[in-house]
Amino acid sequence: MADQSSATFLSQAHHNLRTVLAARDDSTLPTPDALAATVSALPRPGQPDFLAGRGAEATLDHILTAIVPGLNSQGLSSRYFGFVTGGALPVAEAADNIVSALDQNVQVHLPTHSASTAVEDAALCMLIELLELGGDGRWPGRTFTTGATASNIMGLACGREAIIAARQQDTGAAAVTVAEGGLLAACHAAGVTEFQILTSMSHSSLSKAASVVGLGHRTVKELPASDDEPWRLDLDAVERELAQQGTATIIAVSAGEVNTGRFATNALDMPKLRSLADRYGAWIHVDGAFGIFARALPKTDEFLSLHANVAGLELADSIGADGHKLLNVPYDNGIFFCRNASILSKVFQNPNAVYLSTGPGTNIYSPLNIGIENSRRFRALPVYAVLLSEGRDGMADMFARQVLLARAIAAFIRGSLQFEWLPAEDASLESTHIIVLFRARDPTLNDVLVDRINKTRKMFVSRTKWKGQKAVRIAVASWRVDVQRDLAVIKEVLTEIIAVQGTTA
Ligand SMILES: *Cc1c(COP(=O)(O)O)cnc(C)c1O
Repeated sequence: MADQSSATFLSQAHHNLRTVLAARDDSTLPTPDALAATVSALPRPGQPDFLAGRGAEATLDHILTAIVPGLNSQGLSSRYFGFVTGGALPVAEAADNIVSALDQNVQVHLPTHSASTAVEDAALCMLIELLELGGDGRWPGRTFTTGATASNIMGLACGREAIIAARQQDTGAAAVTVAEGGLLAACHAAGVTEFQILTSMSHSSLSKAASVVGLGHRTVKELPASDDEPWRLDLDAVERELAQQGTATIIAVSAGEVNTGRFATNALDMPKLRSLADRYGAWIHVDGAFGIFARALPKTDEFLSLHANVAGLELADSIGADGHKLLNVPYDNGIFFCRNASILSKVFQNPNAVYLSTGPGTNIYSPLNIGIENSRRFRALPVYAVLLSEGRDGMADMFARQVLLARAIAAFIRGSLQFEWLPAEDASLESTHIIVLFRARDPTLNDVLVDRINKTRKMFVSRTKWKGQKAVRIAVASWRVDVQRDLAVIKEVLTEIIAVQGTTA
């Protein structure tokens, strides 16, 4: 065990990792053979040396030679366009290693023991400024989460508690919180007979969040503005739904939508939504996992229409975002902002644990009382590192590169006779944020297009559907993006696929 904790072992481990990575080619996926080799190298019960204890050196060697070759390059390649992943900026990766080295448990705010909670708060305040959300005084409830799914759970949980409390106050009913009395008793006391979550093309995790907080998938109601723009929220429909007696409403704004990359609202919609929510006692939660970072794009003409899409989001009651996507810090990292700190701490209070209490006289909440976990990682440090290192201009530059590559790909697709740019061919390139959706016009090619692209291992794309038909989805999220270099490879891959199809058709 001694060598495992030694600095020599760790620096050797780091050195060996770097050597292995330097020798790796730039393929996005491991080969099928490499994957099979990794899986067959895993220990199995019944093997003579199963759980025999190999020692740290042999284990490290096993990981580097048998496991790493079976892992994909989502963090190493600039052309891994699947899902929305992002990579890890070197300074974030370094900070994350420091987090592991010091293994702080950021659970209780103990200012005389560790500055970790102060660093977390500093990072959150920097994010509030970067995203121009109206200053940290506006967002007294703020914390790091494991990702946007957790942030969505928190947004719905806070909304549920706040709406019920307001109803009880309005009707003069006895105060029964969800936290204390449970959802059934609280709804009963408030005269709430039904919940609804109004949204447009919400992320799947919103329905999951609805289940976790006891509202259920079926409370999620899609209110698309039109067939052509289903990602946009229909505000008239929202108003009609709000007017129902006995129904409590959370409005979940998809900023942006994960399939098309488009946005539910624009600069004029948010003030209108805010006044509707105030009039009917609804809560507005923004799912801004990746889209909210459009607020930190340069304020130049080419990004004005995206700025309009994310304008007004500061009017929400809660906002969730991801650190491990566009911000390019390692997994798991998400962010949650809430206008109402007392609701947040009511819902997430870890009750009756005196030994976990914070000393008096602080304005930093103990993370365990405002988030899902108790013990947890010092998640803030990589975010802190990225923001300190890049600053506003550096971040704007990185976000702009991501958008410009997506637009260059979209322009290529739009200009090609063999491909169809989705959702609308006549859209302006300026509506593109970081996602490009398209399909092959030839249905036989379209059927196998994702497989053909991914088999090249020069780029990786996601499989999706648009209006019932197969489509290809590209999400640009890595700090490693180089617009000219990556565009050249993408054009080459797509052109080659078309050429081969042409000769076999
Ligand atoms: C990725 C994503 C989520 C889920 O985030 P996780 O970090 O995977 O938990 C939620 N909403 C949107 C819009 C997303 O893109």
